[in-house]
Amino acid sequence: MGSGMTMIPRSQERSALEQEQFLKILSREEALGRFEAALFPRSIPSAPCRLADALGAALAEDVTAPIDVPPFDRSNVDGFAVRSADVVAAGEGAPVRLWLNDEAIHCGTAPTLQVAAGSATAIATGGPLPRGADAVVMVEHTQPAGSDAIEVRRATSPGQFVAYAGSDIARGEALLRAGTIIGSREIGMLAACGVAEVNVARKPLVAVISTGDELVQPGELLAPAEIYDTNGAIVTAAIDENGGQAVFLGAIPDDEAKLEAAMRRALADADMLVLSGGTSKGAGDLSHRIIGRLGQPGIIAHGVALKPGKPLCLAVCDGKPVVILPGFPTSAMFTFHDMIVPVLRRMAGLPPRSDAKVSATVPVRIASELGRTEFVMVSLVEGRGGLIAYPSGKGSGAITSFAQADGFLRIHALADQMPAGTEAEVTLFTPHVRVPDLVIVGSHCTGLDLVTAQLAHAGLSVRSIAVGSLGGLAAARRGECDLAPIHLFDDRSETYNSPYLVEGLELVPGWRRMQGIVFRKGDKRFEDLSAKEAVAAAISDPACIMVNRNQGAGTRILIDRLLGGARPEGYWNQPRSHNAVAAAVAQHRADWGMTIAPVAHAGGLDFIPLAEEHYDFALVTARKDRPAVQAFLDALGSHEARAALERAGFRPA
Ligand code: AMP
Ligand code: MG
Repeated sequence: MGSGMTMIPRSQERSALEQEQFLKILSREEALGRFEAALFPRSIPSAPCRLADALGAALAEDVTAPIDVPPFDRSNVDGFAVRSADVVAAGEGAPVRLWLNDEAIHCGTAPTLQVAAGSATAIATGGPLPRGADAVVMVEHTQPAGSDAIEVRRATSPGQFVAYAGSDIARGEALLRAGTIIGSREIGMLAACGVAEVNVARKPLVAVISTGDELVQPGELLAPAEIYDTNGAIVTAAIDENGGQAVFLGAIPDDEAKLEAAMRRALADADMLVLSGGTSKGAGDLSHRIIGRLGQPGIIAHGVALKPGKPLCLAVCDGKPVVILPGFPTSAMFTFHDMIVPVLRRMAGLPPRSDAKVSATVPVRIASELGRTEFVMVSLVEGRGGLIAYPSGKGSGAITSFAQADGFLRIHALADQMPAGTEAEVTLFTPHVRVPDLVIVGSHCTGLDLVTAQLAHAGLSVRSIAVGSLGGLAAARRGECDLAPIHLFDDRSETYNSPYLVEGLELVPGWRRMQGIVFRKGDKRFEDLSAKEAVAAAISDPACIMVNRNQGAGTRILIDRLLGGARPEGYWNQPRSHNAVAAAVAQHRADWGMTIAPVAHAGGLDFIPLAEEHYDFALVTARKDRPAVQAFLDALGSHEARAALERAGFRPA
């Protein structure tokens, strides 16, 4: 964006810009390469720091040992400093008598007398070896012989129980390398060498700004159409985790003047600026336009072939990196870790991050967009032949995937899928794989958390992966989980769940969930009606809008039966969860729908019961004896869990 651009009318400027964006999508490697080339090499600002304050800092330069540690030859035991030649032949049957010199060497006492042939000097652990001595005999291997002599009853070789000067740390040795994070052990090494102050890298000050009219800070109340600012918190924490010092400047509305002022303020003090949101080509697409006015060379990449994360914008303004992360929190975090952390760590004087990796089999085909490096979050479970990596993403808008996943795998830009059965490399979020004790794959229900709470409190880790009833059954058949929660109605037998079991699986009864019509309290159109009457009333009122459920959901089967072929307004609004139905009704997007009683009540809505749905577990028989499975079955039958389920509105089977 040259300065001449300002002469062009706004509408033309926008279309020229959009075209430019489309033309300049870079590969991740090229984008990162250009970004680093514009920033490095650069000097890492550093400052002297007292040892007591250095914990967690990164060393700015190598530290060379200024002295030998220990500084002198010293005894490792309480005993007697001797000349080994005198006692080389000593033994239980051949004690050697040595006369005692007239001094005892304690810690901190410099010896004054030489150990002459046939003599010994009493010495304490840590005492400096006197001239003439070359070994120490432990006091336990001697006996007093009168007041001024001892008998040695053990053969002694040269150097025995002596720690020589510099044997721990030698003067001139590289003690610690630049980039080392100073922990308690490093502090110990520095203290042993007498180092009271080290040069540490100054943490880069990183300003963080969220952008968007819809953002509200946690702790404040949400108004309609608003969401909590997630990126502000997560980006700030991730900066601190990677050697920066984050300063969060809040969320700025999508207002060019306000945003520019905030960005200028941020750059006046900070070494780096990280924004999020406003990078997609929408009306709020402001920040990258502002960047062009903030300093040279400006934008380096806007649009990177990453998924999630395509709208990432990388810039350098007068030597300072300015980054606009995508708005969706998961996209923001992936691009942050992949593209920003390497730069931040270099600026902080830290070595590149080394993430642990494991190999795992992908149980299902993962579709991928051709031309973009795709990151897929996965949950790891133990399968028959090793680790299994379940894709756990819920789409780029989801934040829970991050917390529940163990790591991620990468699908190459030139691949349009990862076939089922692929052995993939998984980069872990934590240093070690944590394979859960109990794996539950299938349909999720809030009641499940009430049962597994007991296991969690008993120290058992539970991983619950929500893939729906049918996905759960498939996982159970493949032996990838212990239990598959299902609620599948069989039209022919008019029963739940048991018709769906195959060999190797057995049914564990769970609980019943009352399904029914949900509507807003006080809506006279539905009050005091039965479910059938309520639906009839709704169908006959064209102003009444419904919210449906997705194809394949057990609830959908019930709705279609009730509607008997009718297609009222709202029929094509088909969300995938009970909660989404309740939210649509509560927010007046719809007037009625079908959900389960606990969800209706939690949403402050009224409810007309219709039929009980059976939520049961398909248990993999081969895994029945595992302690965690037994613990789950115990918890399921326990008085506490049953009471908790009832309180939440479920009916234990
Ligand atoms: P944008 O790039 O501004 O169009 O944002 C894309 C999506 O991410 C929108 O759904 C935004 O509401 C969402 N988003 C943007 N910033 C944040 C944030 N700080 N926290 C949570 N969601 C955000
Ligand atoms: Mg926005």
